[in-house]
Amino acid sequence: MYPQLHIYPDRIRQNAENIKKICDEKNIKVTGVTKVVSANIDVVKAIINAGITSLGDSRIQNIIHMKNNGIDAEFMLLRIPMKDELELVVDYVDIVLVSELETVKWLNAVAKEKNKIQNIVYMVDVGDLREGVWYENAVDEIILVEKYKNINLKGIGTNLGCFGGVLPSKDNMEILLGIKNEIEEILNRSLDIISGGNTAALTLIENNLLPKGINHFRLGESIICGTDATNNRVVPGNRQDTIIIEGQIVELKEKPSVPIGETGFDAFGRKPVFEDKGIRKKAILAMGEQDISPDGLIPLDEKIEVLHSSSDHTIVDVTDSDREYKLGDTIQFRMSYGCLLKAITSPYVEKIIEK
Ligand SMILES: *Cc1c(COP(=O)(O)O)cnc(C)c1O
Repeated sequence: MYPQLHIYPDRIRQNAENIKKICDEKNIKVTGVTKVVSANIDVVKAIINAGITSLGDSRIQNIIHMKNNGIDAEFMLLRIPMKDELELVVDYVDIVLVSELETVKWLNAVAKEKNKIQNIVYMVDVGDLREGVWYENAVDEIILVEKYKNINLKGIGTNLGCFGGVLPSKDNMEILLGIKNEIEEILNRSLDIISGGNTAALTLIENNLLPKGINHFRLGESIICGTDATNNRVVPGNRQDTIIIEGQIVELKEKPSVPIGETGFDAFGRKPVFEDKGIRKKAILAMGEQDISPDGLIPLDEKIEVLHSSSDHTIVDVTDSDREYKLGDTIQFRMSYGCLLKAITSPYVEKIIEK
């Protein structure tokens, strides 16, 4: 039943191979990030088949799902863990990102009880204002991890472009490297992982701006969507037709382009704006905010315009299309990262693996 999500693992494998090649050339290890597809096993296998041996996800449930489906890889938990999930972290996660000493203390206790050593990557905030110890306090805080015997400080990392939209740069990467150097000197050993970031940081590699010493990236969007939302671009050499959503037309009528009557707010408290283009031919698709975000839908038929969605309906203007749409026809779209995230998590969207 529609809406249907058509997933093309082979295209995702091609993207993963391209990304791996770019990173291999600079000796950067890639963790393939699976959260935007809820760790869909066919997509995960495609990433593995590209030669990527490390997988990251922000949800522990997704990591458990991959392991239960026989995926053999190194697993990294990307979201700094809840107190509530530390048992599962020690049971299932090879490397966990952290940003609180208190959490490290708790993790140490759980790991000790299970007679295990938990690897961690301590996150440093170099300006984006999401997770991480503020860079000025980073060295003092991170060296304290050494007193926990069941914790292995595997490295440090940073995340940019996600909350503040701060762009990764040579300067903020050098802040991270300065912290690495100080920690290594104090601890008198080297750190394995210096994790420079996510898809938003790829431009540094492409433009040869990544300082030597950054040796790890966590990449999801660039592999799965072929895009880089933070830099508002497509990733060179990668394809964007990896996952397509298809909805069915349940009403097709000519209507004015501006509503009649006094307008308030829409179902989501937004005030829609309308441009008067006269009478237009409009299709209602049986999918809505519960399944997609309308501003993240990119019609494959470029002459279609997406107007608006409420919970279960999406209205598109098909007036200018060369195709004569009929009731019951379907319309296909590419999606933004945020739109895909909704579609994959909506139980109302059927997922189809395409060869
Ligand atoms: C989601 C996430 C990533 C991957 O980001 P992309 O933009 O999809 O490459 C990397 N690191 C962390 C901490 C994340 O939460």
